Amino acid sequence: MLVMMKASATQEEIGAVCRKIEEMGYRAHPIPGAQRTAIGITGNPGPVDANPLEALAGVAECIPVSRPYKLAGRELKEEDTVVDLGDGVRIGGPELAIIAGPCAIESREQALAIGAAVRAAGAQLFRGGAYKPRTSPYTFQGLGEAGLDILAEVRAEFGLKIVTEAIDNESLELVEHTADVIQIGARNMQNFSLLKRAGRSCKPVLLKRGLSATLEEFLMAAEYILAEGNYNVILCERGVRTFANHTRNTLDLSVVPAVKRLSHLPILVDPSHGTGRREKVLPLSRAAVAVGADGLLIEVHHQPDQALSDGYQSILPAQFEELMSEIRQIAAVVRRSLPAPQPLRPAVRTR
Ligand code: PEP
Ligand code: MN
Repeated sequence: MLVMMKASATQEEIGAVCRKIEEMGYRAHPIPGAQRTAIGITGNPGPVDANPLEALAGVAECIPVSRPYKLAGRELKEEDTVVDLGDGVRIGGPELAIIAGPCAIESREQALAIGAAVRAAGAQLFRGGAYKPRTSPYTFQGLGEAGLDILAEVRAEFGLKIVTEAIDNESLELVEHTADVIQIGARNMQNFSLLKRAGRSCKPVLLKRGLSATLEEFLMAAEYILAEGNYNVILCERGVRTFANHTRNTLDLSVVPAVKRLSHLPILVDPSHGTGRREKVLPLSRAAVAVGADGLLIEVHHQPDQALSDGYQSILPAQFEELMSEIRQIAAVVRRSLPAPQPLRPAVRTR
């Protein structure tokens, strides 16, 4: 059930409706829109009695929600969600968000070298895992807390926003102190206790699509985070498992317009994990921007042959620069833009 408030409803009236919903034993999610506020209701085991709510001042109407995702759907919020990370960095607005960096943080030197390169090419967000979910327990698992310290240094040095993965509730506690955006990886898309914990964090969450997740499962995973009160969720398509073996995964670009139709949440595309091959990252990045993605997540490494993970799919800094210049042109065709690369001034330093 959704309670649509009148355009003229006051904050007091909205507050009174939320209190009534809580008194009825449910949770209220007031979501301001361009015209009016909608209040989502969760926690109800069955249908909600609309009568006590419709009687309240400022209520326009109560509408049953037809989709299982109540908070992620456009029924609750027609306008696109824009996740504001501060300092002019937004995900979901007219400017594309470009997240670039290595698969894993391997050393201070590596992270700073790649940070400098992606910053110079115009990326505003830096990625790199301090905690890595690996298929084999014998491969590099990430530097852990030492990796988080390096990420904090990259932010201080270059003014880049930090996106890094939490692989379990324990690492999330640590990651949320350092990260500007907490990544939840494909393998954890249905780790419901992790999703709930991320939903109680004050940091935005980048949720990657599971290896075999349907669109509904993907949106329901986002719903877990939203239902806990964290409305800053960014979706990310990273390829799904199919019979095709010419790529690591099959990048499902058709999910972008499908998400846009059903949900107000921003959606990024990760052509690095989506293809697994360096030479396919540029063509699929072009396509992702053309199809309407809100941004890209790209693995970049200055020495990919020596990378401790995902070297085959990591592009070189010069290739990343070329990618930025090409997608800038494609963005203009679909009425989007890329932030201009900013010269690095000492003033960027925050420490
Ligand atoms: C990653 O972004 O490095 C990663 C592990 O991605 P995914 O969860 O999509 O495999
Ligand atoms: Mn990777």
